[in-house]
Amino acid sequence: MGCVAIDVTDHQNVQEALRESEGRYAVAAKHANDGLWDWDLLQNKVNYSSRWKEMLGYQEDEVSHRPEEWFNRVHVDDRDILNTEIAHHLGGINPQFELEFRMRVRNGEYQWFLCRGLAIHNAMGRPSRMTGSLTDISHRKSMEAQLQHGAFFDPITKLASRHLFMDRLTGAVRRSKRRDAYHFAVLFLDLDRFQNINDSLGHSAGDELLFSFGQRLLECVREQDTVSRLGGDEFAILIEGITSVVDATVIASRIQEILTIPFQLATQQIFVSVSIGITTSFTTHETPKNFLRDADTAMHKAKNSGRAHYVVFHKEMHHDAYHRMQLEMDLRTAMERKEFLLHYQPIIELQSGVIAGFEALIRWQRADGTLLPPSQFINLAEETGLIIPMGWWVLEEACRQFQEWCDKFSDCSKMMISINLSGRQFSQPDLVQTMDKILKRTKIDPTCIKLEITESMIMGNIPMIRKQLEQLKERKFQIAIDDFGTGYSSLGYLHSFPIDVLKVDRSFVMQMEHDEDKFEIVKTIVGLAHRLDMSVVAEGIETSQHLQGLRTLGCEYGQGYYFSEPVNQTKALHLMRDYPKWP
Ligand code: C2E
Ligand code: MG
Ligand code: MG
Repeated sequence: MGCVAIDVTDHQNVQEALRESEGRYAVAAKHANDGLWDWDLLQNKVNYSSRWKEMLGYQEDEVSHRPEEWFNRVHVDDRDILNTEIAHHLGGINPQFELEFRMRVRNGEYQWFLCRGLAIHNAMGRPSRMTGSLTDISHRKSMEAQLQHGAFFDPITKLASRHLFMDRLTGAVRRSKRRDAYHFAVLFLDLDRFQNINDSLGHSAGDELLFSFGQRLLECVREQDTVSRLGGDEFAILIEGITSVVDATVIASRIQEILTIPFQLATQQIFVSVSIGITTSFTTHETPKNFLRDADTAMHKAKNSGRAHYVVFHKEMHHDAYHRMQLEMDLRTAMERKEFLLHYQPIIELQSGVIAGFEALIRWQRADGTLLPPSQFINLAEETGLIIPMGWWVLEEACRQFQEWCDKFSDCSKMMISINLSGRQFSQPDLVQTMDKILKRTKIDPTCIKLEITESMIMGNIPMIRKQLEQLKERKFQIAIDDFGTGYSSLGYLHSFPIDVLKVDRSFVMQMEHDEDKFEIVKTIVGLAHRLDMSVVAEGIETSQHLQGLRTLGCEYGQGYYFSEPVNQTKALHLMRDYPKWP
């Protein structure tokens, strides 16, 4: 403690004032369980109460009257402010002394204390004595620290919270305005189909996955970057001090890359992918909030371009974001207004040319008469969860329609109806029960139904998926893997699932006549399917060359514009009647 000027005292005044103030503090201290101190500035001696000593962990006779007993125990970082505050009070700048600081207690640790005091002045108006109390506030301080931690860190992933992220982003925006050469990027990440995993695995496994995902993100960035969980399955990364947009896209690629390794949760392996939107200070000069909003918009763009992608934001996306919001509102009312309908595309047995069945494909007939293909709304329906009621409607409507055809047309009973299932639908725990109800209501024979799922759907929670598939097989449904060859399903798992059909994605079929590699891929898929006792449907047959090629490869079935586009139910019925056999 710095030097305090000591003056001659008017003893009487002091004693009186002291008694008064001591009395005041004693009352407060008794209630608050505080320690007391009484500092004689003239002799530079301090009287510490027993409680004061006890609070620091000492016995009555272990502490002397020296001021150093107090001041030497104060944390070095708190000493300057303590000196200043006391000097300000003694100098009359502050009417009372009050400060929170840390003191070392007997076991060597530092604890937080609140110290209050009042000076007593002599007749000359000079301070001669100071007296006060000491309160242990370590509990309150630790609560505050916890609260602060909670506000700054996400409890599940231990990453920065949205609050802390926005704080750092605000700093970055400010820096970039001050210094032309300073640039940063914001990556907005959203896990693809996380809801499926959460629905099927349960929340604690979902939390575990979020944590592991966060750890992987940390591996992809540098120490000074901020990785944050914004909430739900949304994350954001602030990358500081970049020199070009490429610095940000490199990190996005690194994140995509690292996710090709499955996550090992307690009981199972999980594959996840993430869609990433990127904004940088090279192109945007905005508020922190708008930075994040633009990155979010770009992320949605990435989702719609097939997930597991990254997209860098550009201005025109504002318009897209508005359009998307409008579409989402319309989609929500479309279910109630029954604006959906099914089209049917024939699936042909390639050797004989007869119709083997139909694939039901959803269309959205908007109020203005336009007919939207699924590419324009299926992803949005997935994101909003609307895909679940929509999917059940498709299933029931396709079954009802097919049963109606069978009742009218005897050949139909030899045919199959193929129905697409969405990922969300497939991971519903009540999938099988709902199927049972639909079978009962429509009276359709389940052996006529082929359920199409995609590769990515069977690569989530493997044991749960196997169980779902086995239950569907028990009911005699057939299972097809749609768009085969475009996802990253592990062939190791493929043979262990009860799958009946592989549908070769049309991107291979459509290029097989010009591209040797694509031809080889189709040949391999056909060979693989046959070895695994599965049959093959080729999608996207547009020419007679496609058809010839596929026939030579021994591919059993096919669909495509060469035969017919998807058509409405009236035309489908005509197809059955008029074209029982293609040449
Ligand atoms: P998908 O299941 O692979 O369906 C085949 C798509 O290929 C259909 O597109 C069909 O019109 C198109 N197609 C058929 N032949 C040809 C051809 O020769 N050339 C070309 N270029 N395309 C051909 P569509 O109807 O637009 O459906 C797109 C996707 O939307 C479907 O792909 C399916 O994944 C999804 N989808 C359709 N209906 C439903 C549904 O009810 N539920 C769910 N979850 N998804 C659906
Ligand atoms: Mg399909
Ligand atoms: Mg397909």
